[in-house]
Amino acid sequence: MLDVCESCRESVPRHVVLCPHCGASCPYPNVRSTMSVEEQHALSARYERAFQSGELAGYAPKLHKFDVATQASVAVLSITLEKLQNLLAGQAIITFLRQVDSASRLPKADEFEAARPGIEESLFPHYAREINYAALSLDGVGVRHYGPYSLVLKTAMIELRSSMLDENSVLFFRRHHVAAGSSGPPGLPERLAKQE
Ligand SMILES: [Zn+2]
Repeated sequence: MLDVCESCRESVPRHVVLCPHCGASCPYPNVRSTMSVEEQHALSARYERAFQSGELAGYAPKLHKFDVATQASVAVLSITLEKLQNLLAGQAIITFLRQVDSASRLPKADEFEAARPGIEESLFPHYAREINYAALSLDGVGVRHYGPYSLVLKTAMIELRSSMLDENSVLFFRRHHVAAGSSGPPGLPERLAKQE
């Protein structure tokens, strides 16, 4: 029962991290969303299909090597020098939607940033403003498009509240023809700790 408080057994909305009835902590909503039986079965099926396909194509040794390497991957946040200086001066990391809300960031006039608010809210309904994005990396280097400096996030500090998409969320929505308000096919967002 994903949306039942483990303390008082009352039902809780998916987007909250504190039970509105007794105040107990609930698992983070993005993580809770990956824990349903449907999501877990779909994810396992995708994983099996990938290996079967790799074996048929003769890539099994490389695929197994990659699978092992991903166990040591780290989440990396890429930022600009200006943002790095702000962090060192004590500023917190602020999510894209909160930056736009506060007018501290002007969204780019491109189709990606125009689509982001609707897509983020569909993936993380009523808590999208809490979501920061990083990239999983094998070598500690992030996605340079977002800045030349790579911050490696300590796994112990993020593993209880992290989930994973296997591609850019805008491209993900386009590829699966997901309508706004729907989160798309199961088994694609997964808990980051699943890689353990
Ligand atoms: Zn409760």
